[in-house]
Amino acid sequence: MKIYRFLHNGRPAVALGDDQHLFRHDGTDAIHLGARVDEPPHLIASVQLLPPVTPSKIVAVGRNYADHAKELGNEPPPEPIIFLKPPSALLPPNGTIVRPPQSQRVDHEGELAVVMGERGAILGYTCANDVTARDLQKKDVQFTRAKSFDTFCPLGPCVDTDADPSDLRIITRVNGAVKQDGRTSMMVFNVPFIIEFISSVMTLEPGDVILTGTPAGVGPLASGDVVEVSIEGIGTLRNGVK
Ligand code: MG
Repeated sequence: MKIYRFLHNGRPAVALGDDQHLFRHDGTDAIHLGARVDEPPHLIASVQLLPPVTPSKIVAVGRNYADHAKELGNEPPPEPIIFLKPPSALLPPNGTIVRPPQSQRVDHEGELAVVMGERGAILGYTCANDVTARDLQKKDVQFTRAKSFDTFCPLGPCVDTDADPSDLRIITRVNGAVKQDGRTSMMVFNVPFIIEFISSVMTLEPGDVILTGTPAGVGPLASGDVVEVSIEGIGTLRNGVK
């Protein structure tokens, strides 16, 4: 099933959906769906979607595709490189990525995102854009500033609880042109390994999000661009840039 959140009468609501319609439920979040509300379905195209979950933390994996590590002049790491993005960086589908004045080079990184359920189980998968101020990432000793600006974590459109993450095509387009085209089977460390690795460090809470790394082809975003991350079977995450 596909779980969405959207703005309903000014408040966050949770829903199940197909690719066009939302069926609102009376629960509080993606983990506690509640019962279906007896009302006509909402058209996805006419509602304001929200990030499908509200994580306590967003853990990201760096250099998890060998071809991307190589394009930045790095070897694939011997064990996962992890860093955090703050929940304040979350951006809903169709929200606008804001390039901050501190950076002259803001890149897209299309990624498969894992959404955690209860007791360390996986709830499902969604699309993410690990937006990165590349110049600040190179300048700073660590990644926090480069990865953490408001709007630097577009997430959505839905949590797909049925996706098999082992071999999904993941494509990132800018203004319709394909920039990244990879498969999740090309990950250096696969999803089960990443979950186990992170869980040995910190407790993964329900709703927490893990960004699993980006394939080759990262590149800059300019004002007026539209960037789309599409993952086979899950959907497309679309955002403008200013
Ligand atoms: Mg990344």
